[in-house]
Amino acid sequence: MSQLQSLRGMVDLLPQALERWQAVEAVAREQFRRSGFGEIRTPLLETTDLFCRGIGEGTDVVGKEMYSFTDRGERSCTLRPEGTASVVRAALQHGLLSQGAQKLWYAGPMFRYERPQAGRQRQFHQIGVEWLGAESARSDVEVIALAWDLLASLGVGGLELELNSLGSADDRQAYRKALVDWLEQRLEQLDEDSRARLTSNPLRILDSKNKDTQALLEQAPTLADALSPESRLRFEAVRQGLTALGIPYRLNPRLVRGLDYYSHTAFEITSDQLGAQATVCGGGRYDGLIAQLGGAATPAVGWALGMERLLLVLEAAAMAAPNGAAARLVGSSVPDAYVVNRGDQAETMALTLARALRAAGLTVELDGSGSAFAKQFKRADRCGARWALVLGDDEADRAEVRLKPLLGQGEEVSWAVAEIAAIVDVLRTP
Ligand code: ATP
Ligand code: MG
Repeated sequence: MSQLQSLRGMVDLLPQALERWQAVEAVAREQFRRSGFGEIRTPLLETTDLFCRGIGEGTDVVGKEMYSFTDRGERSCTLRPEGTASVVRAALQHGLLSQGAQKLWYAGPMFRYERPQAGRQRQFHQIGVEWLGAESARSDVEVIALAWDLLASLGVGGLELELNSLGSADDRQAYRKALVDWLEQRLEQLDEDSRARLTSNPLRILDSKNKDTQALLEQAPTLADALSPESRLRFEAVRQGLTALGIPYRLNPRLVRGLDYYSHTAFEITSDQLGAQATVCGGGRYDGLIAQLGGAATPAVGWALGMERLLLVLEAAAMAAPNGAAARLVGSSVPDAYVVNRGDQAETMALTLARALRAAGLTVELDGSGSAFAKQFKRADRCGARWALVLGDDEADRAEVRLKPLLGQGEEVSWAVAEIAAIVDVLRTP
């Protein structure tokens, strides 16, 4: 029979990788807690309508990337391609916004039918924050700082914050007209996708990954020129806020983001380590979305970062600086002790001892092979533990365990297996 394979673009996460994931998630979780963001978990499956209304029909995500199907009850369902629409749906459904502004974060898998490549999968994972009810320019700054500080505390270097303002809906309407007028005079220079967007969703053209179109757009009118005085002031306040916090940024007038619901501040954090899939984190303000999904008009701001891309950047950072924060984070953990054991009575005692030490908070690797001592010691050495706890027939007869240092420091000692506190003491002594 042929070997079964996972679907294309769907990736298994194995224990070694997951250790890194959990380390990253722990840092993120702690930072969100300190910043007053509470976790929210929403279903992976939603009505297709949520994303059509929330993300916009003219976007790549809705137009060609969604995993949609009809369920047994004839409902059109979609595996969520992103988190924001679901979070807003949940906040509205549970009346959270009537209790005031909501600072929420989420983490989990998202699904997009894209061409898989490094940093691009069909099931991928995001960590994101949504601050619903946040109106001020300062909230944009705080949310961007949250992403920036999270990445910094993970030890990721070589990052660049790109910033733009998409202005208000009116500003964008004016700009859309200017852009379409300009592009219509240069139709023959546009790629096919972009030509189709000229009528459906012209701002998306700015997001084109086609090199010739990108070059053409260098000359095109920019959104910045179309901003109203109020939008301009607001953007100025965001920029001043970032400068006051010492967060460097680069203005990118062509940054529009892939989803339709953004307004005013839009940003991306990119890494020079990622090649074509350079964006680690993207976000911005989405003042129109909540009303679009049936709530009262409520301003909001948020971002999402891609876990797979973040891990790629972290691994590169760990290689570049073997003693840095990233290296500590991606390094695999080493048990406090490795239990070498052989013989009926010794094996029972070893399991009892391992349980007691784990209950005391130590990380204990118990060799379960019953193989020769030499083999077990080899594995003990390989795992990097500082101590081997040795239980053979002789030790079992005396109800003792031998504590043997593996890294050349410390004295070998024996303790009664019941003396858990004393054993913990030895293992914990640096
Ligand atoms: P891109 O332009 O790379 O397709 P996007 O604008 O579609 O990105 P967002 O919807 O803003 O991406 O999602 C936020 C982040 O999620 C991205 O910056 C990226 O890190 C990650 N991401 C998006 N799509 C994928 C994917 N298919 N595989 C892995 N990560 C992804
Ligand atoms: Mg995309």
